[in-house]
Amino acid sequence: MLVWEVSAIDVGKTRVEIQISGLDLSLPATRIVGHSPGPKLLVTAGVHGGEYPAIDAASRLGQELTADALSGELTIVHLVSPVSFYARRQYVNPLDGKNPNRYFPGDANGTATERITHQVMTLARSHDAWVDLHGGDIHEALVPFSLVSNAGAEETSRRSLDLAQAFALPRIVITASVGGSSYVAAALAGIPAILAEAGGMGQLDTESVRLLHQGLRRVLQFLGMVAGGPPEPVVSRQLHQFAWTRAEASGLWYPGKTAGEMAEAKEVVGKITDVYGDLLQEIRAPQSGEILFAVTSLAIETGDPLLAVGA
Ligand SMILES: [Zn+2]
Repeated sequence: MLVWEVSAIDVGKTRVEIQISGLDLSLPATRIVGHSPGPKLLVTAGVHGGEYPAIDAASRLGQELTADALSGELTIVHLVSPVSFYARRQYVNPLDGKNPNRYFPGDANGTATERITHQVMTLARSHDAWVDLHGGDIHEALVPFSLVSNAGAEETSRRSLDLAQAFALPRIVITASVGGSSYVAAALAGIPAILAEAGGMGQLDTESVRLLHQGLRRVLQFLGMVAGGPPEPVVSRQLHQFAWTRAEASGLWYPGKTAGEMAEAKEVVGKITDVYGDLLQEIRAPQSGEILFAVTSLAIETGDPLLAVGA
């Protein structure tokens, strides 16, 4: 259960702990109820605990924004997966080994991760829009992009795309895929949502923080929740295909190209060898386009993502 009743909060800023039922775990959150009515926006960070610019951008927003400056209500969940954050774990929640972004909308009676995603999804249903902040994980390089799902109703897809355009990362990937992701579950529930990605490789780099923080401010402007009118329009490149390659063997991963480089379909973009140096798998680009993220760790396990190409 949530520790607060959304309707019972007075104007102001409150720090709250969202209890996860059945677990000795709570998610740190900031609630800001503005001085006048308006939309309700949910911002989440730390679904993946090693995506630091996302977590920092959310923290900055919660710190700086006051109820006097806000119309409507803003909820920021600072760490959706706090155990991953403090354990510095990539992808998965150490409590059950599951990747939270494959388990939306979750299950109230499920494993730890499923209970967390269920609680976040319940929260999302009481909001008008949702921005889920991510980036490349501790061992991933990435170029900034937003993800929008067209898996839901046309109206939801359109409003999600509006959010992504307001957020203004240079690329918007429009896709129905990646089941169990926050933005896909949101689309299916009729909640306009984006998943915004910037930064990676365990770095807290200034430019990625700036991009994500600016995106949040621009969404608040776009929704009319802060003063300043609609943000200056920015044209983002729209991509409609998002193809991933995965490791078919465990061993040593040698990427031949990295995030931001172009690749031709079937071009060799890396290889996996065993520890003795013998070739196990030659990696070819799944389609022509730009490499949006690429794993940077030498260690690779069967089934791990290696890179993704957007087009
Ligand atoms: Zn992530």
